[in-house]
Amino acid sequence: MAFNPVLANIGTTIFTTMTQLSLDHQALNLGQGFPEEGWPTEMLDRAAKALMHGDNQYPAMRGVAELRQAVAAHDRRFYGLDYDWQSDVVVTCGATEGLAAAILGLLSPGDEVVLFEPLYDSYLPMIRLVGAIPRLVRLHPPDWGIDFDALRAAFNPRTRMILFNTPMNPTGKVFSRAELSRIGELCQEFNVIALCDEVYEHLVFAGSEHIPLASLPGMRDLAVRVGSAGKSFSLTGWKIGYLSGAAEMMGQIARAHQFLTFTIPPHLQSAVAWGLQQPPEWFAAMTANLAAKRERFVGGLARRGIAVLPFQGGYFATIDLQQFGIKETDENFIYRMTTEKRLNAIPFSAFYAPPAMVEPGAFVPPPNHLVRFCFAKKDFSLDQGVEKLAGFLGR
Ligand code: GLN
Repeated sequence: MAFNPVLANIGTTIFTTMTQLSLDHQALNLGQGFPEEGWPTEMLDRAAKALMHGDNQYPAMRGVAELRQAVAAHDRRFYGLDYDWQSDVVVTCGATEGLAAAILGLLSPGDEVVLFEPLYDSYLPMIRLVGAIPRLVRLHPPDWGIDFDALRAAFNPRTRMILFNTPMNPTGKVFSRAELSRIGELCQEFNVIALCDEVYEHLVFAGSEHIPLASLPGMRDLAVRVGSAGKSFSLTGWKIGYLSGAAEMMGQIARAHQFLTFTIPPHLQSAVAWGLQQPPEWFAAMTANLAAKRERFVGGLARRGIAVLPFQGGYFATIDLQQFGIKETDENFIYRMTTEKRLNAIPFSAFYAPPAMVEPGAFVPPPNHLVRFCFAKKDFSLDQGVEKLAGFLGR
């Protein structure tokens, strides 16, 4: 039977595939990005109490008032952004639905969208499902700097949106103020919306700073911010996302959201509201915990002579197989590492557009020598991961 070709031409996401491979071989899963510990127990208590004693019926379509107020206050406290909680915030089922609602609500068939590669795997299928056209600008290791001539060349009068992710998965790149300023200038010159996937906003290491594009001059009315309780509070199973932006765009996003999920579980929303109200020191303590894990994993690898690519945010570290003269693909390497050594990771090549997603003739084969590891894990898992990887590489 003929089905929607956009979805018929793609497989199951790499994260599901790799976690299944990991389970099949009882491997240590440093692939799919989910924390093994570190979530605030106060939030679990609050959600449980709200479930037992609070309202269990449909909450407000755009999100419970408490959470929308908390999102607006959070954005003001951390970034000086001025959003009205009633008109400028929408709560979604994870950032995944938030991104989908924004793409569905803000784009029309034929609109062009500029994106950086590597990219998160949900972007292109959603862009294709609305009939919009991706224009890809590739970033290169080790520093993932932006070629601004290539970026400018990707913009034209049909460009409607730029969709990008900072701190960036899988590279861990945190976009600098200078880079964001130049992106903002292009948005203003071409009157282009910026959909800013900022789910790792609180996972930034010392020496770097997360800056929302929306906070730069002239960008408040062109940028939509996407946040996630999955990342900010290590509660990926809760699937709570929150979007903020100018009222006109958020109205469109709410119109899409009302037909995707309509509402989100109220107990989880009120617990996330509590989390977002906490002071900067509370967030900083969680980031410090993550920084210690980063040090444990990256430092452990370094002691075995295994270098990772430089990164400033997120909870992923990447190794380059070429440093060991390894010629096999990232996918093969991970398959062997999972089956032979019981250690799983994510192939970087999965973060590049497959041929079916690009315009005819625009496909460029992805790098296939990079392997991503998630270090938001227990110390025991990190130590085991170092041992297993070093053993597998003969270090
Ligand atoms: N964002 C997570 C990652 O990059 C996984 C999300 C998912 O499993 N869909 O690993």
